[in-house]
Amino acid sequence: MIHHRTPEFSALLERVLTNLRKVFETKQPVLIHSCVGTGVMEAAFVNLLSPDDDVLVVNAGKFGERWLKIADAYGVNAIEIKVPWGESVNSEDVSIQLKKNKNIKAIFCQVSETSTGALHPIKEISEIVRKTETLFVVDAITAIGMTDLKMDDWGIDVMVAGSQKAFMLPPGLGFISLSPRAWEKTKTSKLPKFYFDLQAELKANESNQTRFSSSVGLIRALDIVLKLLLKMGLENYKSYVKSISNSLTKSLVPMGFSIFPKTPSPALTTLSVPKDIDGTKLRNHLETQYNITIAGGQNQLKGKIIRIGHMGYILSEDILSLIEGLGLSLIDLGHKTDIAHSIEVANQHLIESGF
Ligand SMILES: *Cc1c(COP(=O)(O)O)cnc(C)c1O
Repeated sequence: MIHHRTPEFSALLERVLTNLRKVFETKQPVLIHSCVGTGVMEAAFVNLLSPDDDVLVVNAGKFGERWLKIADAYGVNAIEIKVPWGESVNSEDVSIQLKKNKNIKAIFCQVSETSTGALHPIKEISEIVRKTETLFVVDAITAIGMTDLKMDDWGIDVMVAGSQKAFMLPPGLGFISLSPRAWEKTKTSKLPKFYFDLQAELKANESNQTRFSSSVGLIRALDIVLKLLLKMGLENYKSYVKSISNSLTKSLVPMGFSIFPKTPSPALTTLSVPKDIDGTKLRNHLETQYNITIAGGQNQLKGKIIRIGHMGYILSEDILSLIEGLGLSLIDLGHKTDIAHSIEVANQHLIESGF
């Protein structure tokens, strides 16, 4: 451990903050808070808004719902665009709402709705929003580094991320970056804030410090992750993730799974389980018999879908053993399948993609 008020730590923090900007594809500062992803979602709210403000929320799953809960907690009026689980928002619906209500201060949307695996059309939405006074806030927690997302070029006003998903670290760090017009809004925002006061945090960052104690261990680990990511190149990393996602769908569909989201996020593969299989049993079996953990569905999707996260240190051999484990589990549960064929399909795809 090193102390957080030392020249050694300041040099590390300066490098990390610079590299984070490259991954966010922004020239604006990226701030680090010691918190989980929900913390920086909340920070976006309390730094931009005032009580009774109107906001627009895209709710396409568990994480979209979270924006509504934060709005409710702070007495902000949320107009909801409710999207069926598994679908992505239609940018036209955003446009209609913005025309209907000229008072909407900000729109809140996930990039990748991790509860369903759906990817929202962020570029299209930002083209609509940037022509208005409304701010566009995106939760990029499972999207940054995984899919095209250009904060400055697309005109995204606020982007938040967290350490434990695309940054492949344990939970505990939240990241947030604001456009100049979003920083301007922070000057008049009246929602209460103390720990999440971004202006104060920015001021501390200017002397390469965090305002309170820094999560030194996680920030050191982040330094390594960022170096790895930038060495590999963001575009290469995105195509690596994409090829993993493609190899999984290509090999698991012949086993009887089907792709659940209409427009899938590359960060995770979300599949409906075969009709004769209970998804919860399948996951438990895979975990207890074959030592591989994947996620399932929540709420109405419980037992119906599986979610395979493949952000970070995932190698082609991990993918191949997952396919084998899933195939063996299906057979154990009485569903016939050709495992060798699926493994061959995935292997071939990975080789063709150069990984
Ligand atoms: C994981 C996740 C979050 C935040 O979760 P925390 O537990 O608060 O870190 C927010 N949004 C999305 C899209 C996520 O996947």
